[in-house]
Amino acid sequence: MYGLGKINWDAKENTYLIRAERIMKMERPVVTEDFFKLSKPIYSRKMIGFTSWLMRRGKKEVLATIQRVIKYRFGKAERLRKNLNAPFLPYHLKYLRLYLLGLYLEKLQYRLQGLCIVNIETTAFCNRKCDFCFNNDRFPKREQGLMQEEVYKKVIDELAEKNFRGRLSPHFYGEPLLDTRLPTWVEYTRMKLPLCFIAIRTNGDFFNEDLFINLLDKGADHFLITNYDDEEKPLLKSLATKYPIHITFQSYKDFPKVDKAGEIFKIGKSLSRPCLRPASCLVINWKGNVLLCCQDFYEAYCFGNIREENLWEIWNGRQFVDFRNHLRLGHRSCFKTCVNCDDGGEIPW
Ligand code: SF4
Ligand code: SF4
Repeated sequence: MYGLGKINWDAKENTYLIRAERIMKMERPVVTEDFFKLSKPIYSRKMIGFTSWLMRRGKKEVLATIQRVIKYRFGKAERLRKNLNAPFLPYHLKYLRLYLLGLYLEKLQYRLQGLCIVNIETTAFCNRKCDFCFNNDRFPKREQGLMQEEVYKKVIDELAEKNFRGRLSPHFYGEPLLDTRLPTWVEYTRMKLPLCFIAIRTNGDFFNEDLFINLLDKGADHFLITNYDDEEKPLLKSLATKYPIHITFQSYKDFPKVDKAGEIFKIGKSLSRPCLRPASCLVINWKGNVLLCCQDFYEAYCFGNIREENLWEIWNGRQFVDFRNHLRLGHRSCFKTCVNCDDGGEIPW
């Protein structure tokens, strides 16, 4: 059997050269190795700290600290539940799920299936044209539209076949709150994927308390609101203070700008470090096309369409696995979207 061997990007010809290599069998992504490579320093530091702390303290003090942590967590959850006027047991179970997801479940998902983050573009429309985004007028336009309901449901049904419990976000380069179908789709997602973490990123222009409560009731877990204006947004800020676990509010100035696929700022920086994005995230645009990663705005690499193929067949497809393995080894120069991409390539837990 032959598969993709070394791939070299030929900038002059604007194409890549692929050498066929004899392979003995189809390789599956080596997810366990990556996971340990990535998390070992964090865990070992935590473990050393925790063990030395245990050794320095007596049994009584350890128990008292555990009690304090539980009391603090419970108090925080209870305050939030009262603000939301939510029923006691379902809300505390939801809080426990969020806490465990943050601590462990997303990482477990990566170890088991590789795939731990799914981005589905429900709408390609955005009301803004931020300067550092492909939606800005200085970039060529792409085809825009809304995802069809049956395509969205097919993705969710296929994720449910393997009990997906990672993070699911209903957006790519569109503003998700512009889509009035969102609450119904969130409800469907929660019904089919009870353990997954539904996270919505929004520019906050259409966000209000009623919509937040409605989406939370339907099953959404977290909203990351980014203020893309220079002036303060006191209303959004106060909502984030009132519902701290579910809303994070940030300014566009708070995060570093990424030269997406080397196209936004044209810095021309090339990295040789591994990129684990395609090994951990699945990006599906409004047409149902499965793309390389969230920087691939113009569909430079499409690995299949959800309407025609099964999601897991695309994910484990020969071509996708080859790309993933090359990027895992840091061969960014092989692919035109990656050659000047300055994304660190970590899994965005
Ligand atoms: S709000 Fe987000 S998707 Fe819309 S233009 Fe700005 S960065 Fe791009
Ligand atoms: S290197 Fe950049 S463009 Fe390539 S897969 Fe990683 S994040 Fe995407």
